Amino acid sequence: MNTLRFLTPEDLDQIRMDFETPSFVYDEATLRANARAVMEFPNAFGLFPRYAMKAAPTSAILRIFNEEGLGIDASSVFEVERAVRSGFGTESISLSTQELSEDFRYWIHDGVKTNLCSLHQIHKFGQWGKGESIGLRFNPGVGSGGTNRTNVGGPSSSFGIWKDDLDKARDLCKEYDLKVERIHTHIGSGSDPEVWKRVAAMSLDLVRAFPTVKTLNLGGGYKVARMPDEQATDLLAIGEPVRLLFEQFEKETGRELTLEIEPGTFLLANACSLVTTVQDVTSTGNEGYRFLKLDAGMTEILRPSLYGAQHPIVLVPEGGQDKFREELDQVVVGHCCESGDLLTPAPGDPEAIMTRKLPRGEIGDFCVIEGAGAYCSSMSAKNYNSFPEAAEVLRKLDGSLAFIRKRQTFDQIIENEAVP
Ligand SMILES: *Cc1c(COP(=O)(O)O)cnc(C)c1O
Repeated sequence: MNTLRFLTPEDLDQIRMDFETPSFVYDEATLRANARAVMEFPNAFGLFPRYAMKAAPTSAILRIFNEEGLGIDASSVFEVERAVRSGFGTESISLSTQELSEDFRYWIHDGVKTNLCSLHQIHKFGQWGKGESIGLRFNPGVGSGGTNRTNVGGPSSSFGIWKDDLDKARDLCKEYDLKVERIHTHIGSGSDPEVWKRVAAMSLDLVRAFPTVKTLNLGGGYKVARMPDEQATDLLAIGEPVRLLFEQFEKETGRELTLEIEPGTFLLANACSLVTTVQDVTSTGNEGYRFLKLDAGMTEILRPSLYGAQHPIVLVPEGGQDKFREELDQVVVGHCCESGDLLTPAPGDPEAIMTRKLPRGEIGDFCVIEGAGAYCSSMSAKNYNSFPEAAEVLRKLDGSLAFIRKRQTFDQIIENEAVP
């Protein structure tokens, strides 16, 4: 499996010449196709999908999703600002944040929505915006993330109001005259329709407790298959049972709920390739490994070091794939002086080094990390070892390539420093 997902070897030569490596290259056709698939999510009484922009918040990407009709799920007040500057109307933005910062009070009256995520947040918001409409994010008590670090529901997750605090939350909302219009649960439900059904049913029970609620937001967490052996989410398969539950809920209660979903990974993961160069090759002998050292690493892509996440790695000799190379077990590492800067960890275990069968890598080869769209550029160990932030490039519908974020300059790395 040494095939590029959407780039061609000619693209790689052009990227090296015009944009340098490392560069993230996003594919506009894939972004738009994914957005359209999300817009088709089954629903009973209306759907509003939001892009969870923390996956990749660059303006050109936001603008594409705005054109496709998606709204925004922002995870900080800074993301709210970024979405507005990229052309999103304030009414299409919703904030679900771990840190409800003071600055958010100025957005409330502009129509930005929020899902309050803790009892303290209800207090805080209540003091700024008495009488406003709000959403509440609950932790329904179950989660289904792939690892402890991606699990966002259940007792080991701090996200949302704990299910047993429902009465306290309701009392607080009364105290501040807050009208609860939305219930939000995001537990990283994955690709199993049974899990979605269970979470939707539990979330509908929360809706029952708040007669003013009109919208149920089930969050994101739709898994994608980056590697060939991974299970992708079939949106129609997970959405259909949820649609039926909404209909059943209407029959029981007469309430027609709008469905909101908030995919990040689903929209972005396979829409981007990180193009790097093998800049060194070392070996630790027969008992050891052959290491390919890239001109990128945890400064661009942290997921392998953080979660033991697996990304396809494609090796392409300069000038195309015509040169035959034998396949070898090799280890791919990043350019940071940090033994955890590893692109081939064992699955789910960032501590364990693994080899990957790849064509024999040589200095100067392209090494393309696929599946690098979600939580890569946006979640890097930026400027570690003082490497500049990599460029981001868009492969447009006509196949041409353009910067959407230039490489950081050296001056930008140190611009906020002071020597008193
Ligand atoms: C991160 C996040 C999402 C998106 O999660 P994915 O796994 O990328 O789909 C959606 N909603 C909220 C509240 C989030 O924090």
